Amino acid sequence: AKKMGRNMFQFYEPAMNEEAQERLRIENALRKALERGEFALHYQPQVDLESGRIIGAEALLRWQHPELGLVSPARFIGLAEETGLIVPIGAWVLRTACAQAREWLEHSHGHAPMRMAVNLSARQFSQPDLVQTIAAVLAETGLPPACLELELTESVFMNDVAQAVSLLRQLKALGVTLSIDDFGTGYSSLAYLRDFPIDVLKIDRSFVNDIVTDPDDAAIVVSVIALAHNLKLRVVAEGVENREQLDFLQQHGCDAIQGYYFSRPVAPEQFEHMARQGRHL
Ligand code: C2E
Ligand code: CA
Ligand code: CA
Ligand code: CA
Repeated sequence: AKKMGRNMFQFYEPAMNEEAQERLRIENALRKALERGEFALHYQPQVDLESGRIIGAEALLRWQHPELGLVSPARFIGLAEETGLIVPIGAWVLRTACAQAREWLEHSHGHAPMRMAVNLSARQFSQPDLVQTIAAVLAETGLPPACLELELTESVFMNDVAQAVSLLRQLKALGVTLSIDDFGTGYSSLAYLRDFPIDVLKIDRSFVNDIVTDPDDAAIVVSVIALAHNLKLRVVAEGVENREQLDFLQQHGCDAIQGYYFSRPVAPEQFEHMARQGRHL
């Protein structure tokens, strides 16, 4: 860099340089995090609004960095996607979540088996061996495919629609459940709801937030629930933080909720505790 002279350095704002360095630091640390076992999964319960019971969990990635402490996925998932590191990290998430779900299944003692929801990034979705990877994880862990739910965002449909449809069909053929995450925030098209073999819509938390005070948000949520049900899809509302939101969703026939009102994402032992207590709404 020295050779390029001082113009090179004048071009960059000092702040930008710091930001680039920070990214590089995180990227290097991410590479090592997998080997060092610094990742963990927390689990957030999904609660059925009819029975009030926990029917599933969403696995959410946590990074326990030796110096930085607990790093939020908001700070590193984007970078992991850009660098492709999300592929090995995502495979670890999938294996760990399925092994956990299999273990919980053994202790379910006659209760309906819980479903484990795992986030799949667009980058993972475009890996040619995605279907084999998922089939292998299911075989390895012995988790019944119906207990695995894959959460996809609308961004995965943006590229090659025909290819996406074919891939979703292959995933469905494995017997897994498919859900659309953050529904309504991305490239929302009614065509994919028609053409793609989807089972669940997750209404984004930005719509749920002001559901009680904003008539537009309320109208959108009520319409999405009706749309989903007419298409025979289940609806899960995300980011439910209070009783009023819960009541609204229940009154309008939403199937299940996820949110701080019931529980934050928690470590596996805490999740087990909640499930064992038979905790419900
Ligand atoms: P997401 O998939 O939409 O996950 C839900 C996020 O909302 C989680 O944030 C969760 O902690 C948070 N949340 C749940 N209930 C509430 C609530 O009542 N109020 C509020 N304000 N927030 C709530 P988290 O764990 O920080 O994850 C952020 C995002 O990072 C996730 O959004 C997902 O896009 C991504 N992510 C997390 N784990 C993974 C993973 O294993 N793989 C991939 N590809 N992405 C992941
Ligand atoms: Ca999700
Ligand atoms: Ca979401
Ligand atoms: Ca809509």
